[in-house]
Amino acid sequence: MRNNLIPKLHVNSPYELDLEVLKKNSIKGVIIDIDNTLVPWSEKYADQRVVDLVDKLLDAGFKLCILSNGTKNRVSEFNKDLKLPAVHNAAKPSRAAFKKALKLLGTEPRCTAVIGDQIFTDILGGNRLGLFTVLVVPMSSKEFIWTRFVRQIEKLILKKYKHLINKLD
Ligand SMILES: [Mg+2]
Repeated sequence: MRNNLIPKLHVNSPYELDLEVLKKNSIKGVIIDIDNTLVPWSEKYADQRVVDLVDKLLDAGFKLCILSNGTKNRVSEFNKDLKLPAVHNAAKPSRAAFKKALKLLGTEPRCTAVIGDQIFTDILGGNRLGLFTVLVVPMSSKEFIWTRFVRQIEKLILKKYKHLINKLD
């Protein structure tokens, strides 16, 4: 069995993600994290780069949903102009939140990707439900002390399983 901590893909940023790879893997829906994935942790609003990426994904035919452990306020402020389906206070890696996002998207788990910057929330939660998991490099190094500790463990996991990541069938 594949270790649930191993992402299917590891890329620098969602802005560099090759949409053809998603299409080739039958992905129809994309669940995306906000903090340190789309914008740095401290950034309140979606900038033009986010808007362009969202447009690009929607134009390419993907369905999109935000899935964030952030508060209702944080998510709705960020999502104000994007107006995407969104789940706040997700408590990732909780299965319930991912199921909620899948329901909003209306896509099957195997046809859904999750993009996020944390192995123990975004990737673990996604893999547990059989999603196509995409880990990105966190945008900002300004993080809670606990997260900074977790980053060290993430590094070890990525090193150990390097041979299994970015190897698509
Ligand atoms: Mg994040």
